[in-house]
Amino acid sequence: MYENGLFYGRSSLGDRTLCLTFDDGPGRTDSPQPAPGPRTVEIAQYLHKLGIRATFFVVGKFACELPEIMRETQELGHLIGNHTYDHFDLVDYASENGDVISQIARTDSLIRSYVDGPVIFFRPPYGKWDSSIAGALNADPEVSADHVGPIAWDIDCRDWKCWQEGHSPDQCADSCIRRIEESGRRGIILMHDCTADIEALKLANRTFELIQHLVPELLDRGYRFVRLDEIPGIVA
Ligand SMILES: [Zn+2]
Repeated sequence: MYENGLFYGRSSLGDRTLCLTFDDGPGRTDSPQPAPGPRTVEIAQYLHKLGIRATFFVVGKFACELPEIMRETQELGHLIGNHTYDHFDLVDYASENGDVISQIARTDSLIRSYVDGPVIFFRPPYGKWDSSIAGALNADPEVSADHVGPIAWDIDCRDWKCWQEGHSPDQCADSCIRRIEESGRRGIILMHDCTADIEALKLANRTFELIQHLVPELLDRGYRFVRLDEIPGIVA
């Protein structure tokens, strides 16, 4: 079932506890590292080596092309969530009589066999949400039973903005660490393994390099990481 308001993790997590989430994938770049571009599998492999389990909120329009990436991501211990099919702002889309149920259902059908656990977590694009969307989705058991959401974030790494403005991955990691420490040292972190809307930003993605600066520094500072479904109370 969907709540009327967005779920935030901060009040449920202990000091120096973070939950990594990556939106807008899956994506793949064939050129060798460190060339920019989406690198979902490399991110998943890197975190796995460090014993960290993350959550990837995927968009159906990419997931339909790349089922093998979702399988590998799941096998590495990560969680796949639903981020709609087309990545529309659902509040706008509903106001134009768009079919919000199909936005969830189409992506469910692509990801269900790669979801690890009893529920499908849902994050709305741009965090845009209202109670009428919750009501419309909850009226359809196909897309509401076994679904948990809408999941928001506590700390936005603004990684896409770094790539848009030409910042380096280590600059981006520094500003993300500053935001984490200023935000009470706990919460759900938002990053992007791909970009759903702007092709130029998708091609400029350096989030795989970002996490190679960010995560070791956070581990040095004593942070620990939990998967989204390990946040106390999130499913209840
Ligand atoms: Zn998104």
